[in-house]
Amino acid sequence: MLEYRPYYCNLAGMMNGSEYLVKVLVLNCGSSSVKYKLFDTEADLVLADGLAERLGMSGSRIKYNRYGQNVKINLEHTLSGHEEAIKTTLSLLTDNDTSVIKDIEEIQAVGHRILHGGEKFSRPVAVDDDVVKSLQQCIELAPLHMQHNIAGIQVCQSLLNHAIQVAVFDTDFHQTMPDYAYLYPLPYEYYEKYKVRKYGFHGISHKYVAHRAAEMLRAGIEDLKIITCHLGNGASLCAVKGGKCIDTTMGFTPLAGLMMGTRCGDIDPAVIPYIAEKEDLSLAEVIKVLNEGSGVLGIFGSSSDFRDVEEAVKAGNQKAILALNMFIYRVEKTIGSLIPALGGLDVLVFTAGIGEHSSEIRSRICKALANTGLEIDEEINLKNGTEIDISTASSPVRVLVIPTDEEKMIAQETISVAKGYLSNKMIS
Ligand code: ADP
Repeated sequence: MLEYRPYYCNLAGMMNGSEYLVKVLVLNCGSSSVKYKLFDTEADLVLADGLAERLGMSGSRIKYNRYGQNVKINLEHTLSGHEEAIKTTLSLLTDNDTSVIKDIEEIQAVGHRILHGGEKFSRPVAVDDDVVKSLQQCIELAPLHMQHNIAGIQVCQSLLNHAIQVAVFDTDFHQTMPDYAYLYPLPYEYYEKYKVRKYGFHGISHKYVAHRAAEMLRAGIEDLKIITCHLGNGASLCAVKGGKCIDTTMGFTPLAGLMMGTRCGDIDPAVIPYIAEKEDLSLAEVIKVLNEGSGVLGIFGSSSDFRDVEEAVKAGNQKAILALNMFIYRVEKTIGSLIPALGGLDVLVFTAGIGEHSSEIRSRICKALANTGLEIDEEINLKNGTEIDISTASSPVRVLVIPTDEEKMIAQETISVAKGYLSNKMIS
């Protein structure tokens, strides 16, 4: 439940020497939804946020929250697609009754969350026509997401053409992985011909919490060996050394790695044709089961939500106990496999729905890592949903809980790209 209070976003530190960038809109365009958040970087506030959903379907609607003055709107509205959703959002941001800005001209930059940057994008970029063409080449890597991500950019290029558009990728943080980590042991030509390799996802979240961890510890990120655990519906780990990702658990797609809410994570690929034959399913149908009917849901059977699993565990449900044991076991052993990759471990970070809210799961994972000397204070660990160091004073590994804030990360990246873009323009 959102609280109606000014939401301080702590971006003002980024504004030094740059008075021309103040209002930044962050957009996340999915297949049937647009999530948005408007930041005022000068006042250090989130002004408004919300979600347009069920685009192109019956019952489409838009949620709008204006911070500070307690406006919350749930508007039933026919929204045929991204363009109408973004237009309606811009009206809400500027209309008399709901406005947080006088005119859309006040929005100087738009940060777009883009799922896949392929090998082409290793950092966020200001969007021009060449960038759009390169993004279109990434569509085949993630067709379900990329076409909608690109549609959002194109709508903003026309509706907010005075603003700088910046693409921020879920994959770019992982582009620093070495080849021996990102390549699959398949015929090399598949990589050369089709770019089949590990890309990794959740990069915006991993980067945000890794940097926040260094800030919380008042340490330089370049001196730290960090494992970030993004444990939500989707789940992935990332090994960060010297501020750079050196390995992560998701792969060519977000299906790989850990067991997740509905996704299986790593399995023997030979299972796929075997199940296809036994169940008389096409390959696409098996992949759908692996994405939507597996993981915690596949084992527990009733729900993919960890709150339901934890309730059922308390009631003694054996399938729930098994699902939880499997999930935790896979996280533990994968953390264990990343420690030698990093050459040690200074910081373990928990984030996303489960990582931020389940003291029980954090506690069990940490106990399994006791051989590293890592120790948490079980009392402090009972706190959830807030930034906190849960390790004991003598633990050689700091263990932090950090609520992720992907939109804030996108806003920060957008400001830094836009500043560079503007100063290059002024020089040339
Ligand atoms: P998404 O990947 O959809 O962004 P989130 O990061 O919001 O996911 O995480 C959602 C998941 O977090 C829920 O499905 C639920 O399993 C889990 N979760 C949220 N709160 C709790 C809690 N208090 N205890 C255990 N799990 C929780």
